[in-house]
Order: sequence, then C-alpha cells, then structure tokens
Amino acid sequence: MSEIRQDLRVAVANAAWRMCDLNLTTGLDSGDASFFDRAAGMVYALPGPSDRLPIRTWRDVRPEDVSVVDLAGITVEGSMTEPTVELPMHMSIYRARPDVNAIIHSHAEDSQVFAAQEKSIPTATIDSYTRAGFGPIACGKFGVVASEELGSNMVAALGDVRRAALMARHGAVAVGEDLEDALFTATVIEKAARQAMKIISTGGVPEQLTLFHIFDEQTAKDIEEGRVVLHTQTVSVQRLT
Ligand SMILES: [Zn+2]
Repeated sequence: MSEIRQDLRVAVANAAWRMCDLNLTTGLDSGDASFFDRAAGMVYALPGPSDRLPIRTWRDVRPEDVSVVDLAGITVEGSMTEPTVELPMHMSIYRARPDVNAIIHSHAEDSQVFAAQEKSIPTATIDSYTRAGFGPIACGKFGVVASEELGSNMVAALGDVRRAALMARHGAVAVGEDLEDALFTATVIEKAARQAMKIISTGGVPEQLTLFHIFDEQTAKDIEEGRVVLHTQTVSVQRLT
C-alpha cells in the first residue's frame, strides 16, 4: 500500500474551504469533495462527522481529517476518519469515467431549485454549454442518500463526457481533471441555474444551446455524425483522416 500523500490531503481540505467561500455548501457536512490518486489507487475524500470531529461547516476540516480509502472503499491505515456517506457515488463515478480525478458534490441554492423539481438546467450561454460538456445539466433519477443506486443514476446522468449533473431532490455534482477544475464547474452550474431563472423572470425561455451555436454548420454536422472528434476540454475539433 502506498503512503498517504500530505499534499493531496491539503488539496481536498482546501477544496472544502473553497466550497464555503463559493457558497457551494449550506453548513454542517452538506456536500463533499474527493480526489482520486489513480497511480496509487487511493481516494482522498472529506470525512463524515464523528464524535471526534463534529462538522459545523467544512471550514472545521484540517488536512489530517481528510479520509483516505482504497479502491474497495476501505479506509486505509493512517486515515483518522471515515469518509463521507456519499463515497459510493464518488467511487461509481471514478470507475465509470477514467478522465475524472476530482469530484465536487454541492448543496448550493440555485441548482437545488432545479434539483428540487427534478428538472435539468438548460445551458443557454456558450460558457455554461461548453463547460457542462456540450449539453444541458441533466438531472439524474432520484436515489436515496448514500445508496449505490444514487451512484449509478449519477453515472447515467453524466454520460461519457458531461462534467455536471443534478442529484434529484438533493444537489449537484461537478467532475474534473483536478479539484480546481471541478470547483470551477460547480460555480458554472450555479451560474447556469441563475441565468435560467433570470431569463424566465424577464419573460423569456432559456434555450438549450447546440453544436450549431458554437461551430459552423458543416463542422457541427461532422461532429454529430462522427467525422470529427470534439475535444470538450479545449473546445477544439480534430478531423479524422
Ligand atoms: Zn449531499
């Protein structure tokens, strides 16, 4: 078994503090964050509250409180805490998405308005459409907190390339290459939710963007029909020869 890395514990604790700064958590242990060290096969996740560590907000968490588990979700020697109850969802996403190394699960107000109604958030601007992974921020089917079913529902909502999805009646998930990447996506989810509500409040209908709003008609068709590959991270296309 590899050694626990202090730099990754610091990174996950820092993500918890940033979640407070960015209003992605509503206090106590709502929402969570994790990072997958794929080389070592270990996941660094925010802890669940305990008698030793009652969590009033994620600001209470120090790097040494970050929980470390192996690929089976078993807490490794040297970890002083047990992971968040939502660990099964995080593990399901890491298993399904080799491009994902970090997950931010938020309980933020604006996206929860949509999650509460089990409605997807339309991405109506170029920045939210491209960041979310070239589609709406889909709301996954309902799953009970901490269940394996919730994990598989979120894997389905994220699909192969999406970076953001809603958890029905609960919150949102943002995935990324690293924690900063996932945190940024988590803020874009909130922006998309606010913009959709503002468009509706000013008498409009938030229109879902498509490839045809980003690329010329021929390129958009080529992407849809598989003649070119769309790199979603860089928003660039590669023509197949
Ligand atoms: Zn939650």
